[in-house]
Amino acid sequence: MVCLSARLPCMIDYSDNAAMAQPVDLLILPRWIIPVQPAGMLVNHALAVKAGRIVDICPADEAPSRFAARETVELPEHALIPGLINLHTHAAMSLLRGFGDDMPLMAWLKDKIWPAEQAHVSADFVRDGSLLACAEMLSSGTTCFNDMYFFPGATADAAQDAGMRAVIGMVAMDFPTAYAADAEDYLNKGLAVRDRYKGEDRMSFTFAPHAPYTISDDALGRIGVLAEQLDVPVHIHLHETLDEIRDSLSRFNMRPLERIAAAGLLSPRLIAVHAVHLLDGEIETLAKFGCNLVHCPASNLKLASGLPAVKKWLDAGINLGIGTDGAASNNRLDMFAEMRLAALLAKGVAGDAAALPAARALEAATLGGARALGMESQTGSLTPGKWADMTAVNLGGLNTQPVFDPISHLVYVAGREQVSQVWVGGELKYAEGRLSSVNMSDLKARLAYWRDKLAP
Ligand SMILES: [Zn+2]
Repeated sequence: MVCLSARLPCMIDYSDNAAMAQPVDLLILPRWIIPVQPAGMLVNHALAVKAGRIVDICPADEAPSRFAARETVELPEHALIPGLINLHTHAAMSLLRGFGDDMPLMAWLKDKIWPAEQAHVSADFVRDGSLLACAEMLSSGTTCFNDMYFFPGATADAAQDAGMRAVIGMVAMDFPTAYAADAEDYLNKGLAVRDRYKGEDRMSFTFAPHAPYTISDDALGRIGVLAEQLDVPVHIHLHETLDEIRDSLSRFNMRPLERIAAAGLLSPRLIAVHAVHLLDGEIETLAKFGCNLVHCPASNLKLASGLPAVKKWLDAGINLGIGTDGAASNNRLDMFAEMRLAALLAKGVAGDAAALPAARALEAATLGGARALGMESQTGSLTPGKWADMTAVNLGGLNTQPVFDPISHLVYVAGREQVSQVWVGGELKYAEGRLSSVNMSDLKARLAYWRDKLAP
């Protein structure tokens, strides 16, 4: 069992008045705190929250004299972990969950998904689908998601209503949809949404060129310039299938990553999703430029895209995040399932049982996501000064007994059913089956409307 002997640094100065307890909004007393940074765990400690941020973590027996809390939450059989960060979603596609299954990527897109989107996608569709996704993610321990879809303003509206932290993709592609006419139109509309949400601390943005096969070199180059000028991350599907690479070689005489490099997009701002098929030299290039990779294990399996060499990414020093992809290709937005799958597949692919240990998988699903988004100073770990984005997991049930190492259980045993409470910026958003900011009966009525409208 790993246990930190040293306390985390205390941000409160008691020198002036040691006897006075600091007023705080919330004091949580879990059995285990797993901060992720630093690695390891704290047993019988307390975490204090004020104005939405973590102010301190201290031994539980010291907490009563140190803090005068407005609310105290005791979690005697629980692990408190950073809120999970889903690093690749198409939230609105939750309305297409189960709409087309058991097909490879291009046939699935061309025969099922794109025609349905052409016929139905609107701001209302995106808002309702995104709210459904937010409800599912919050109730399964995810506090932040990195999205890419049409009508991104509607996804931002849904995330704001649900109270989630969201990174909204300013999506871009060449071909016209109900949302935009061409790449320039997509970018202008995305930037207008970003302006509308300026100053909202739970909302940030990426440029989101859909994939190398749906966007021209000119548009990629323009995004490269804008991303650098505005210091905004770039979120793109990359090397997802062998077909994508074959198509790129025949159309451009270049592999997709070469086009990304030519457009000036290789930098720590790049968030490349899937990366199933990479040559060893390409892994070295991505590592050299500090690029981030997102592993979506369930989506890769369901679409039979292949299995990436995650251990090689880690050995090269690449920052790893984990995503679910959309609910149309998963079909769950369940980061506990993804962590487990990621850890197991990495071992199987590498032939090495230590390829992706449990603690490393948990880090990828939290701090790895925050790093990729440039948000590691704000979220991704339970560290004083960061937002209090937190998930409590009940390890008291029989299916999680006995507990030798809670970090191991979080990855290999626990499911989203064990999530008991979720806080975003210190606000309780989910507790014991209830979401505080989503009206479930209204949402269910909207979902019934879309099911009837979409039904073949
Ligand atoms: Zn995707």
